[in-house]
Amino acid sequence: MAIKVVKFGGSSLADAEHFRQVASIIKADPSRRYVVPSAPGKRVKEDTKVTDLLYRCYELIRTHATTEAIDRCYDEITARYNSIIAELGLNFDLSGELAYVKNAMLHAAGRDYAASRGEYLNGLILAKYLGFDFIDAENVIYFKDNGALDEEKTYEMLTSELADHEYAVIPGFYGVMPNGTVKTFSRGGSDITGSIVARAAKADLYENWTDVSGFLMTDPRLVNNPCTINEITYRELRELSYMGATVLHEDAVFPVRSAGIPINIRNTNRPQDAGTMIVAHTTGYDSEHVITGIAGKKGFSVLTIEKDMMNSELGFGRKVLEVLEDHEVSFEHLPSGIDTMSVVISSATLEGRRDRLMQAVARAVRPDSVFIEDELALVAVVGRGMVKAKGTAARVCDALARADINIRMIDQGSSELNIIVGVDDSEYEDAIKAIYAEFVKA
Ligand code: ASP
Repeated sequence: MAIKVVKFGGSSLADAEHFRQVASIIKADPSRRYVVPSAPGKRVKEDTKVTDLLYRCYELIRTHATTEAIDRCYDEITARYNSIIAELGLNFDLSGELAYVKNAMLHAAGRDYAASRGEYLNGLILAKYLGFDFIDAENVIYFKDNGALDEEKTYEMLTSELADHEYAVIPGFYGVMPNGTVKTFSRGGSDITGSIVARAAKADLYENWTDVSGFLMTDPRLVNNPCTINEITYRELRELSYMGATVLHEDAVFPVRSAGIPINIRNTNRPQDAGTMIVAHTTGYDSEHVITGIAGKKGFSVLTIEKDMMNSELGFGRKVLEVLEDHEVSFEHLPSGIDTMSVVISSATLEGRRDRLMQAVARAVRPDSVFIEDELALVAVVGRGMVKAKGTAARVCDALARADINIRMIDQGSSELNIIVGVDDSEYEDAIKAIYAEFVKA
């Protein structure tokens, strides 16, 4: 039988009603054997995630707030879990665990320990409700002293542990350090746990259940009701998420990608939707669209260096890049001409070091001029279909010209997976709209 690992995000487990929905999804397919839950998320917009309540509670303890303030905060956490248990009609007493966690937090347990209890407690309830075994992530996910995942140990221990359980719940977000303390991944890290479990289980599919029906072709705040992406490759996804498209934790693709396991993004509230399939390779592409998605970001600056005969000066580029490295400035793009070199840098990175950087460049390469221009927005048009379709760059340029938008920079990688255009920050929204309309609605 196939094995599916299913991860449910916080909004999918925010209350009893969602727990019921999650259980019906899991029970509908016996190959959904390993379940990775997040902590309860927001029930409504103004609500607070349990993870945030735990961080708040930890801060109150650390700053020696009054007992009443600490109790009030912890009571909120207790109430979230107890209402789930009560409304599900579960015969399950979590009070011992809740008291233990509070006591540990009061007696100097770390910040990560506190945050991780959101997933731990939710995992206990979910395992009980589903009738699945519970595997504490602390016993199967290992970090090294430098904070990186100890892959060797994790996959060895996790694979052998999973083999002993036909059906199990493994809480997301945390693992253990060599000294025995609990450590979490960065925020949203249950996605990573799900991916690790999928790889350890040699799963056929990693289903990541959330509150949207997959990736949208572009930002729905800019384009009304954009199309959902049916299928996307890991590389395309990486390009789009670098530009700010977030549904899945960035680091979650690595464990499954190397094992060739696809990820399916699904909507807990609309299980009838197929969602987005993330795959390593695919031969097909949606010829109707050519492109897979459009994403972008504002707030870039361009450092331009001009010097006659630059192209024949050996080591010019290296010297400039060395200056950037010395100033701990990483760059995004490097579009260059014969006698000019431009470096696109996020404006935030430049803060407090502009003048020093320009002076250092001037000293290193003695240019005719060096200057920085701000307020550049980058728009990435991503699609594996571009390799086959001629004229994609022309269509991007044409769409922008028709919308009266000036292109300040254009960059197409030789892998032909994306075209990146730089436009004024003020024209960013219109640029996305124009490109989307060209490719999707045309
Ligand atoms: N509960 C954690 C967070 O809010 C981890 C997760 O949900 O993936 O970041």
